[in-house]
Amino acid sequence: MKCKHCGYEIHNPEIFNIHESNCIDEQIQNGLIADPSLEDNGQGENNDGEVDYSSMTVDQLKAICKEKNLEGYSNLNKDDLITFIKENIKG
Ligand SMILES: [Zn+2]
Repeated sequence: MKCKHCGYEIHNPEIFNIHESNCIDEQIQNGLIADPSLEDNGQGENNDGEVDYSSMTVDQLKAICKEKNLEGYSNLNKDDLITFIKENIKG
């Protein structure tokens, strides 16, 4: 049996299985193949839980206001909407 990752020839199936799983781990660590368990994290929100409102559109910002049942936002411009949302949404 040949390891499909490095092409190393191994005759003992038990050792082959051990080698092959280690071989995969090693290649992931070396960055040679992508780790399928790693998922792409979307951008626009950082780990502090703070939303990047400035990257949103006015429509998206107003949608947030609507979702949070806020009032008095309909005539605000983008900058004011961002301030408004930050003032009215804590956590
Ligand atoms: Zn291998």
